[in-house]
Amino acid sequence: MSISIGVVGCAGRMGLSIIREISVNNNLVLSGGTEVSDEFVGKDLGLLIGKKLLGAEILRDPRQLFERSDVVIDFTVPAATLRHADIAASTQTAHVIGTTGLSKDDQTVIRDAATRAPILQAANFSLGVNLLLGLTRKVAAALDINYDIEIMEMHHRDKVDAPSGTALALGNAAASGRDEILEKRAQYLRYGIIGPRKEGEIGFATLRGGNVIGDHTVIFAGDHESLELRHKASSRDAFSEGAVRAATWLSQIKVPGIYSMSDVLDLA
Ligand code: NAD
Repeated sequence: MSISIGVVGCAGRMGLSIIREISVNNNLVLSGGTEVSDEFVGKDLGLLIGKKLLGAEILRDPRQLFERSDVVIDFTVPAATLRHADIAASTQTAHVIGTTGLSKDDQTVIRDAATRAPILQAANFSLGVNLLLGLTRKVAAALDINYDIEIMEMHHRDKVDAPSGTALALGNAAASGRDEILEKRAQYLRYGIIGPRKEGEIGFATLRGGNVIGDHTVIFAGDHESLELRHKASSRDAFSEGAVRAATWLSQIKVPGIYSMSDVLDLA
């Protein structure tokens, strides 16, 4: 039986890439989408990607979309994602969340919704980045504190949150490799006469420009050598492929809870 997938924020960069990915998979059907602007309501999703009609339309009410879907994929903005998680909980629909920039309070709302519906959340859905997370944890555990950890990321000029959700996830992976809490070690800003680097600090550098899809480097800088682990996304399809794979996996999980890509890829 085919799995029906809804796409909230369907006209966004990721929304479009996800519709393309689903439209070429014979085991999946699109159940519809939502967007902010009313101009989209009633339009077929196929029109957004310049294809034939797909028989799935853009709805005004996200609740209607959740009710008719096995799983809904969400790459929107934090405020919308919180509302969607609440709807997922009340309709008991599986919800895949790619939106980044959620605050600690927002995460509490998501965790609460996950007590009533299966929710899968990932700061980055690409296979390569999920492997990079595991490698970062292992390398941080293997090297001593004299190897300074710095995380550098670059994204397109329109990205609104910084550092990226992926950079933060890499910071968490590095900290957990050292049995540390990221928030106690993170250095997000450096400017002016700030003195020498503190031992054990995990530094972040954020670059923005052009149409860079996502570039992350974790640097372990020692006294006599340095090691760099780098991932570059060359297409948004890397994320949408992973998100659709996650949605397929989550649609089979009937148990409420919060899941991650390491569950999907069996990397835990
Ligand atoms: P985008 O701005 O191109 O798309 C977001 C879309 O959501 C827009 O079309 C917007 O109109 C729509 N939207 C906003 N509020 C809505 C609402 N209430 N209902 C329905 N639609 C709504 O942004 P993007 O580049 O597609 O990224 C979206 C989010 O996904 C960002 O937080 C980004 O950081 C994140 N992202 C995550 C990954 C990952 O792998 N986890 C990868 C890429 C992007």
